[in-house]
Amino acid sequence: MLLGHPVAHSLSPRFQSAALRAAGLDVEYTALDVTPAALTETLRQLVAEGAAGNVTVPHKETLAHLCDRQTPVAEHVGAVNTFWVDGKTLVGDNTDVSGFAGAALALRGEPVSPGNRVALLGAGGAAAAVLMAIADWPGVEVHVWNRSAERARALAGRFGAQAVATAEEALDDSSLVVNATSIGLDGVSQPIDVARLPQGADVIDLVYGPNETAWVRAARAAGHRAMDGLAMLIEQGALAFERWFGMAPDRDAMWRAAAPDRNRFNGIKQPIDPEPPPPLPPP
Ligand code: NAP
Repeated sequence: MLLGHPVAHSLSPRFQSAALRAAGLDVEYTALDVTPAALTETLRQLVAEGAAGNVTVPHKETLAHLCDRQTPVAEHVGAVNTFWVDGKTLVGDNTDVSGFAGAALALRGEPVSPGNRVALLGAGGAAAAVLMAIADWPGVEVHVWNRSAERARALAGRFGAQAVATAEEALDDSSLVVNATSIGLDGVSQPIDVARLPQGADVIDLVYGPNETAWVRAARAAGHRAMDGLAMLIEQGALAFERWFGMAPDRDAMWRAAAPDRNRFNGIKQPIDPEPPPPLPPP
């Protein structure tokens, strides 16, 4: 299940249900609108039932505090988007991190090379997941710009990145530009004018929509490789499925359910490969 507030708009029930059906699992994935005040009690009941699921806005940081155990990735990001119950222990992970890494690799066909730079716009929870993923790319420098400069400084400091004062400074010389702000959710606004993107820079917008986003469409029209956040969304869900069931879901079925009219391979270099399942615990 998915816990959030609000949650009715989410695509997760649609594509997780498709993955469950494709795997022949008689399990339901539903969305549950839970207010922040009701989260602790809801989780207590879910742990008693041995449930598993995802959480979304505004619960990711709170759940990190409520879990009995977190993966090192979730602990470092400070947010949990995937949970399950092990015995009576509530375990939390953050699959947004590998979801972003998988999407970036699919777009580019290779990680950003050492010595190159990433421009990161935004300093919220999604930006933290992006920085955590990039921490695995050796020698890559990240310039973080955010509307609230203090938030950019605090986040950059946690990950050894550099906070910059203007979006132009962040863009300077970057080979990948990531929008982790909410700009674009209205379907029309764009975080920066694509004419200001460095030549050859790739573009990832974490915002997504049925017809991609205005920024992604504009960047692609200007000759950049670009993808919206749907690949990351589906990949974080696929990785959550792997955590719960120890097997890879049918990613094609998930894409068909989430975006029946979209070509999953639009503009990308390679498909996202399933992550090997985590090792089974010792008998
Ligand atoms: P968040 O923690 O609330 O952070 C929102 C960010 O957007 C902050 O950096 C905020 O800046 C900035 N922002 C909001 N309105 C702005 C404006 N008008 N001008 C400039 N900056 C603005 O949210 P989040 O969880 O990080 O999510 C950010 C975006 O990523 C959302 O659109 C969400 O849908 C998307 N997302 C996608 C995925 C995926 O799987 N594709 C996963 C997670 C999130 P301030 O700090 O100055 O307020």
